[in-house]
Amino acid sequence: MKKMCETSIDYLRISVTDRCNLRCIYCDPLQDCEFMPRKEILTFEEIHRIVELFAQCGITKIRLTGGEPLIRTNIVQLVRQLAPIRGIDELTLTTNGVLLESMAAELKAAGLKRVNVSLDTTSRGNYKQITGFDLFEKVMKGIYKALEVGLKPVKMNSVIIQGVNVSQVPALARMSVELPVAARFIEYCPTGRNTRPASSYVPNSEVRRIIEHKFGPLTSTLSARGNGPAMYFKIADSAGCIGFISGASGFFCRSCNRLRLTSDGNVRPCLYSAHSYDLKGLIRGGANDRQVLDLLKRIIAEKKNFTKLNSFTEDFCMRSVGG
Ligand code: SAM
Repeated sequence: MKKMCETSIDYLRISVTDRCNLRCIYCDPLQDCEFMPRKEILTFEEIHRIVELFAQCGITKIRLTGGEPLIRTNIVQLVRQLAPIRGIDELTLTTNGVLLESMAAELKAAGLKRVNVSLDTTSRGNYKQITGFDLFEKVMKGIYKALEVGLKPVKMNSVIIQGVNVSQVPALARMSVELPVAARFIEYCPTGRNTRPASSYVPNSEVRRIIEHKFGPLTSTLSARGNGPAMYFKIADSAGCIGFISGASGFFCRSCNRLRLTSDGNVRPCLYSAHSYDLKGLIRGGANDRQVLDLLKRIIAEKKNFTKLNSFTEDFCMRSVGG
């Protein structure tokens, strides 16, 4: 059978907690997926061992996510433990930015390379409407702090929802003109766990049309290109760039290089597939490194056959899977 994925699998996203300090309307506003009992969440020792073994299978990039990773107790300590692991070239983190101002310097010192910050609006009122909290200013301070301490490039993630923040697209794009940030637009992904109907989704073709109407034609750039599916562009004379991640309207299974480790220790080869592997069960059952490595190699081999088309599900909790 022809392999669907034609890239090497070198990227692991780890959800370090399913808890969050925001209640974003597109993520899990009803809290209908309950928090997991703490004993179900992977310990730092387990995460460390898993990363060491994944590194032996070709994983070179790790991203910590959640829930909100910065509310996991002693997260800086976890960064310090993971950063020196042989074979890991890049340790990054995705955050809502609420605690970033106070933690950016110690995260950088612990070995974190850079951060992605989720921010869906530049309006304080709209921020409260989307997240449930009046914390817009705090997030902006976090972004400035991250730039100041060198957690660069800072990439912003914005989910645009019909009737909620479409009018914010020009202001979010303008941030990339004024600041050396990548303003990235992520298409809304209905998960069955959120209240927004699938029709809330705004395709990135429409987001791009709005940006070009305001700022003129975007030019393609490779400068911020990472390992992921984002396509990058620039507004003329801008300090930063614009990124589009079109998971709903696009199809990038062939170049998808990522695995996901859920906060309760399952490996998901594909965001759109319900299929997962119980890594925690294997580890807590006493498996030795050779047995764990056998499973990781099998996951990586099987990952190459997953596509959004043959494995579609919306029944998952973004907080646990990690986005
Ligand atoms: N708390 C961190 C944060 O806010 O960035 C990390 C976890 S969050 C689940 C990771 C990413 O998933 C965020 O950029 C968020 O915008 C995105 N996300 C959450 N729910 C989504 C949805 N339904 N569709 C698209 N992106 C979503």
